[in-house]
Amino acid sequence: MSSSSVHLPSFIYLYNGARTESLNLAEIEGYLESWLKQIKIELREDFFFCYFSHLPPKKKETTVDEIARKLASLKVRQVNRNKSFAEPLGVEVEYERRKLLHGKVKSFGILYDGFELLALLSRLIPAEELSLDHCHIIFTNQLFGTWSEDDRRYHARVSVYGFPSLISTTGIVEAPAKPRDFYLKQQLGASLLTLKEEFKGKFIDYNDPHLTEVMKGYVMQALFFHITGNPFCKNKNCRLYNAHWQEDLIQAQLTSKSDFCLPHEKILTRLAGR
Ligand SMILES: [Zn+2]
Repeated sequence: MSSSSVHLPSFIYLYNGARTESLNLAEIEGYLESWLKQIKIELREDFFFCYFSHLPPKKKETTVDEIARKLASLKVRQVNRNKSFAEPLGVEVEYERRKLLHGKVKSFGILYDGFELLALLSRLIPAEELSLDHCHIIFTNQLFGTWSEDDRRYHARVSVYGFPSLISTTGIVEAPAKPRDFYLKQQLGASLLTLKEEFKGKFIDYNDPHLTEVMKGYVMQALFFHITGNPFCKNKNCRLYNAHWQEDLIQAQLTSKSDFCLPHEKILTRLAGR
């Protein structure tokens, strides 16, 4: 790939909907700047919060209701049926409404369809920021999944890349598989607390002190998707490695001595004009 065929965005927006102090977006901003100085990075609040804040107050109420209804309708109802959506119940819409307005409600136990969620978010990006010159990366604590034709079921994901890109701080804990022994011992009756202690450091947990470091790689994947259409690398020591196991994710984002494989580092250096 030649650097003339790719175009860097002028702006990257990082939206903080993760609601965990373990995610330090200022540090990620610094990381991006260390590779690509010429991009302007803007840290923003939660994506929905930003969207609502630009609406006239009168319109806000009805728009929150509409989006709450849409979100509730994107819940995966059966993991083994593609697009198993249903007309949401009143309480489900109300739950989404509270979450949109107050944010503090946790969303454990709900799996949304990742690509449908992306499509919904995409429609809410302001017209003046709807071009490849603008890269929107949204952090969320919602868990989403994508349908796999291979085994015909939904799988939870850390991220879905597109316009915008979406990265989940719940997905990073729940999506990549933990060591096999973890599940074996769990089946044999070991408590989650005991197991978490025993396997500490072998997987990313909620409020993990390594979360920011790990997420630098996922932001880079989103950026590579934005510029080249391909967010991933086959090299297990490259931050662009698409890890399906916690062990591989820790190797690529934390243990590996270099951030990127040589070819990807070269692309970045070229893009930076160094
Ligand atoms: Zn690579």
